[in-house]
Amino acid sequence: MTQLKLTIDGKQVTAQPGQTILQAALANGIEIPNLCYDPRLTPTGSCRLCLVEIEGQRGLQTSCVSEARDGWVVRTNTDEIREIRKTVLELLFSEHKGHCTTCDENGRCTLQRYAYEYQLGEEVFGRAAYAEPARNYTADNLALEYNPNKCIRCGRCIQICDEVQMAHALTFKSRAASVEVSTAFDIPLNESTCVLCGQCISTCPTGALYERSAQGLGQAKDMVRTRTTCVYCGVGCQIDLNVNPKTNRLVRVTSEVGCIPNNGNLCVKGRFGMEFVSHPDRLTTPLIKRNGAFEKASWDEAIEFIAGKLKEIKSQTGPDSIAGLSSAKCTNEDNYVFQKFMRAGIGTNNVDHCARLCHASTVAGLARAFGSGAMTNSIDELKNAKCIFVIGSNTSEAHPVIALSIKEAAVRHGAELIVADPREIDLVPYAKVHLQQRPGTDVALVNALMNVIIEEDLADKDFIAERTEDFEKAAEVIKEMTPEAAEKITGVPAEAIRQAARIYAKAETACIVFSMGITQHTTGTDNVLSLANLAMMTGNVGKESAGVNPLRGQNNVQGACDLGALPNVYPGYQSVEDAAIRAKFEKAWNTKLPAKNGLTVVEIFHAIEAGSIRALYLMGENPALSDPNLNRTRKALEKVEFMVSQDVFLTESGQYADVVLPAFSFAEKDGTFTNTERRVQRVRKAVPPPGQARDDWQIVCDIATAFGFEMHYENASQIMGEIASVSPIYGGISFERIEKVGLQWPCPDKNHPGMKYLHKDKFTRGKGKFHPVHFKEPAELPGKEFPFVLSTGRLLYQYHTGTLTRRVPAINQKSPTGYVEIHFQDAREYGIKDGDPVEVSTRRGKVTTIASVGTAVAKGWLFMPFHFAEGPANMLTNDALDPIAKIPELKVCAASIRQVQPTNERLQN
Ligand code: SF4
Ligand code: SF4
Ligand code: SF4
Repeated sequence: MTQLKLTIDGKQVTAQPGQTILQAALANGIEIPNLCYDPRLTPTGSCRLCLVEIEGQRGLQTSCVSEARDGWVVRTNTDEIREIRKTVLELLFSEHKGHCTTCDENGRCTLQRYAYEYQLGEEVFGRAAYAEPARNYTADNLALEYNPNKCIRCGRCIQICDEVQMAHALTFKSRAASVEVSTAFDIPLNESTCVLCGQCISTCPTGALYERSAQGLGQAKDMVRTRTTCVYCGVGCQIDLNVNPKTNRLVRVTSEVGCIPNNGNLCVKGRFGMEFVSHPDRLTTPLIKRNGAFEKASWDEAIEFIAGKLKEIKSQTGPDSIAGLSSAKCTNEDNYVFQKFMRAGIGTNNVDHCARLCHASTVAGLARAFGSGAMTNSIDELKNAKCIFVIGSNTSEAHPVIALSIKEAAVRHGAELIVADPREIDLVPYAKVHLQQRPGTDVALVNALMNVIIEEDLADKDFIAERTEDFEKAAEVIKEMTPEAAEKITGVPAEAIRQAARIYAKAETACIVFSMGITQHTTGTDNVLSLANLAMMTGNVGKESAGVNPLRGQNNVQGACDLGALPNVYPGYQSVEDAAIRAKFEKAWNTKLPAKNGLTVVEIFHAIEAGSIRALYLMGENPALSDPNLNRTRKALEKVEFMVSQDVFLTESGQYADVVLPAFSFAEKDGTFTNTERRVQRVRKAVPPPGQARDDWQIVCDIATAFGFEMHYENASQIMGEIASVSPIYGGISFERIEKVGLQWPCPDKNHPGMKYLHKDKFTRGKGKFHPVHFKEPAELPGKEFPFVLSTGRLLYQYHTGTLTRRVPAINQKSPTGYVEIHFQDAREYGIKDGDPVEVSTRRGKVTTIASVGTAVAKGWLFMPFHFAEGPANMLTNDALDPIAKIPELKVCAASIRQVQPTNERLQN
């Protein structure tokens, strides 16, 4: 593309074709004042502040909507322009009433900055305020507040809600002498389509929209901002923690437009979910259980006690009678140190973490097919994909900022979206086709898609021939699954299967996005292998905006896997059973290492039950709520002879522990997280820790040293240095290199730029391998006693076991309780009304919750979110395992439902 050359304020600059004058100026470091411009939005030119003079043209032009042209000479700051700008600013100030001295946004407000620069008269400040409107749409909302007196009616909040978030919650409403922002029909924000993303706050150029919890805690001008990575999901959004240095308190979270990977966009958890950091429930001192009750202890006492018990158990029954669960919430450095202690210190490979429960089948499946078990492409590539096939991922709830890219692709760039999900998820209205398959029938569905592709000669024969092997073996199985045969199994009409197959196969670039709807099955690995087959069959691997993209759940689940918090691999997915690799680690860690694979999460609990594991060390894990078949897990936690829980709060699991250790939260630590697109990003300390809390890796090092295995590091950066030296995929990563933007592994050396997408000319394993995958039914099917299929999943507002989000009032206001979704026809048949208390039962337990009646789920099945301790869905789930990945079948089990108190009785009470 030929660059344009123009002159702005006497400076020769270049611009890309299609760029506006404002964009060209900003890209070249020339500021043109503006109030309605946000690079995330369609320019409107409504504030008229960005006026410029273009030589040879009559009048002044609004630079945010004028495309730059080759040879233009532009002036942005003449006396005439400054005079007009000042008048425009005065007019805007006629809308803005309120004084900067009492405004939280003081120091960051764009309007205030221009008022100073253009030296507006004193009279424009502190004008009499409007009377408070009869109804303010944010009046009862705990997350955000709208102040019409500070609003300059630029419309950015409405535009971002429409164009970026696509929630369409806001509009302008007219009130006698003025216009205000509100919801449609003025309904309270929490009853509107608002999803509390706070994007409207992020774009507001004044203090008119603000986080309610931040008010009065310090003005923007005084805040110290520390760039770090969001602690919730695997998107890895970059956030700035705004801390008041006088109080050392985290006041609010902002994000910079232009940052990678989220471009300033956040979801409710990233924006409003950080109040847990300063919550009074934070653990501040070690606790030792004596006579059934926790008592405060010193660090020395706690560490000696732990090391002594672990030594005793090891000497009596060997290292394999000890197990440790590392954490997808902790940093890469924490995970590296933890698994090193378990392997080199204790002498066991019994180390795993919650990735076992979410993406173990992804790692197993993609490693078999491609040689690497990670997302093949990058988040940014999604928006340019010609087809996106989302299967088993409720992206808007579990990975909200990635959902924005998917919607952007569909709405703005013409991508054809296919959604395969048993529920009517938020993405369905954007989709060309919704394949509403029966839960647990994904292999049949994907095989049928491939059947159509082969039958209609849509496969990429060159790619298959040159880049892959064993296609014929897979095709043998695929040919049996005609769309009609699949319709009988999946419930999806054959014609819809054909339509989806044609869209996917004909697209220039087709990208598969999946998550736990695919992985949490006894056939999880098979499901992933089928998707890999589909992508290879159409040549959609190894190129931009295509690929097979598992969305990893927790903030650092990718990193915890990369760093070897798994029972079969050292950091960098290097097999513990490979003698040469083991020798390399023995040399690096200066000790003998165990040669056989350790136990996985669920196997560890079964081994505790069987008495072969006697001690359990939890770092930031909460299996008493997260694991399947909770009654069984909790019995194991009760039974285990010695248990340590190292965490930020006393969790449900911590209650079973013998020793509880207070750890730093992400806001108190330095280190790195690796997001779902393999990007290693910095985590930075922004606030001091509470009480005597310590960094996770430091605690582990202290225990290891007391145990007799010396571990000492100066800081997290030094640990990353050691990681790079033993793990080739992280070989070129250092804190210095990721200071500004993270790097995507594989990054084998200091000069390597990292990999945007994988398998370009060659798969990691050489040739991509097709696998014949036969459809198998889930382990438990509905029957007479348990006639429904129960599935579980995540909500947008809560996170995992709720340890963090349930301590945030604004989030709990929006999402106060758990529930079970049931189709209205089933509800009618069972006499259940919306809001009724109901009991959901499976072969493993019973849970009382609230019925949510509607059409979100199809007839015959139920859905429950799993975050709520008072109605824990995992009491019900099945711990039957995928034979390869050992992931439990959290997505499908047989259940029954009954009303526990008739509606009319409740109404009478
Ligand atoms: S918080 Fe998000 S969804 Fe709600 S009104 Fe603001 S932009 Fe729209
Ligand atoms: S609330 Fe802020 S973004 Fe919305 S119209 Fe008013 S000034 Fe503009
Ligand atoms: S999308 Fe994920 S990483 Fe981004 S703000 Fe939300 S929870 Fe945090």
